[in-house]
Amino acid sequence: MGNAQFVADAMLGKLAKWLRVLGYDTYYQPGYTPEILASLVGEGRVLLTRHRKRAEQSGHMGVLIHSNHVGEQLSELARALNLKPDPSAWFSRCLVCNVPLSASSEADAREKVPDYIFHQNVNQIRFCPTCGRHYWPGSHRSRMEAQLKRWGFSVYESPARGAATGATPQIKGCPGEDHPEP
Ligand SMILES: [Zn+2]
Repeated sequence: MGNAQFVADAMLGKLAKWLRVLGYDTYYQPGYTPEILASLVGEGRVLLTRHRKRAEQSGHMGVLIHSNHVGEQLSELARALNLKPDPSAWFSRCLVCNVPLSASSEADAREKVPDYIFHQNVNQIRFCPTCGRHYWPGSHRSRMEAQLKRWGFSVYESPARGAATGATPQIKGCPGEDHPEP
């Protein structure tokens, strides 16, 4: 499911950040009340939580995250929902604000980013319309790509092995459940 939207519960801030790296619309605040969480789930967001009870209360829209390690959390989630992150969406979202990035005009980029970065990335500089941060393909992004690859997410392969693009989205309540390919 490429267009899944999430809301991450307390203690899942790192997971939320990495979901944003992968292009997923992911709300995260450490202090959501149960009422706010319920209303966000009602709007169609999948709840990611470490609390078994909250996951159960959200039914098929709740995913209980077991691991303490963010890489394993991502893999758990990918298995549970048969997620196949679309590489064309990676790095398309502000990691702080969660909003999609916009292309930066040449004039704006020239003014806002260091010269050498501007010259190396002229047409690839994007910015967040909410906070104004600029993003470009650089060493930081390469490191994140390498990290994703170590966790099993690469531009060429994803843990949801063989899942066809456009396959029926699956949301299951049991993260441990296996979904064999048809
Ligand atoms: Zn931002």
